Amino acid sequence: MDKEHYTGLIDRYRSILPLAEDSQAISLCEGNTPLVLCRNLEQVNRKGIKLYLKYEGLNPTGSFKDRGMTVAVTQAVYEGSRAILCASTGNTSASAAAYAARAGIRAFVLIPEGNIAMGKLAQAMMHGAIILQIRGNFDDGMRLVKEVAEKAPVNIVNSINPYRLQGQKTAAYEIVEALGCAPDFHCIPVGNAGNISAYWMGYSELAEDVHNQGTRAVTASGLAARPRMLGYQAAGAAPFISGKPVEKPETVATAIRIGHPQSWDLAQAAVKESSGWFNAFSDEEILATQKLLTANEGIFCEPASATSVTGALHDIEHGKISEGSTVVCTLTGHGLKDPDIAIRQSSTELINIDAELDSVKRAILENL
Ligand SMILES: *Cc1c(COP(=O)(O)O)cnc(C)c1O
Repeated sequence: MDKEHYTGLIDRYRSILPLAEDSQAISLCEGNTPLVLCRNLEQVNRKGIKLYLKYEGLNPTGSFKDRGMTVAVTQAVYEGSRAILCASTGNTSASAAAYAARAGIRAFVLIPEGNIAMGKLAQAMMHGAIILQIRGNFDDGMRLVKEVAEKAPVNIVNSINPYRLQGQKTAAYEIVEALGCAPDFHCIPVGNAGNISAYWMGYSELAEDVHNQGTRAVTASGLAARPRMLGYQAAGAAPFISGKPVEKPETVATAIRIGHPQSWDLAQAAVKESSGWFNAFSDEEILATQKLLTANEGIFCEPASATSVTGALHDIEHGKISEGSTVVCTLTGHGLKDPDIAIRQSSTELINIDAELDSVKRAILENL
């Protein structure tokens, strides 16, 4: 890799990815996203907690899905595939469409009619995906994708594709590199449950490495520290809380509007092995957190992403996350993905004035 120029996560992490040496990376320079320390959240500072935001909305198509997609599409092309296929609540389709365009192959995406955010739909359309809008929800789409892939010559690029999780685990590597160690807690929104599983894989591999090399402090258990994994859901789509699938998931956070998570066992194992937990929050709480971050930290994430911080703040408040801890929250997608929700929930008034100096001056003085 060129020392000066970051060229994407396959170039950066090829040695820990199960790709053939001669496979050519299909990349948009994804990964290497900022880890932003919160400054202005009094309820966090008061407890001496360091709360970091892993800002995955700054990936090329605006969500963490790009980490998985670069690896999945690289492998699909290496295998000679001419088309990829996915079911999506929006971000997977946007990412699949972009990486397919980059690779010069076809993307077929199944999206739930009427429940996809405008930004995501715009991306899939602009990148030239074939968009199949189904009269059903994400879970229906997922079932159909699995059935059709048995018959048709296409690669599924949902997170049931193991290359997706392999790519997504690199976010854990970046965090450990940035902090010099794993955080105490990792908070993450859970929909199909691939991402929480991928982070756990990444943290676990790093702990093994440290254990094998003996380079860093090793805990009594013999493993270098891994974080406790905290998986947060929307109350209307919370199968991990009820312990069983949800037939009609409902939430404003459309990216996690999923009732039948595909990585059920992996996610359960991640939470259990890490002594973590699941929790769920109402749409009102999730939207309030989205606004809190935008207004107080200058960080705009989409509603599903705000679920991780909603959970962190709740569990800090209730003492479940102990004082003095280091906490990382994944912000999975960018706020611009869903402008409708943002504008609908904002109470900001537009002040209409004449196009003259006095009016501008008065408006500034009145609002200073
Ligand atoms: C895909 C997605 C999620 C959910 O991730 P899973 O791996 O399905 O649990 C959360 N937030 C955003 C913005 C997403 O795009």
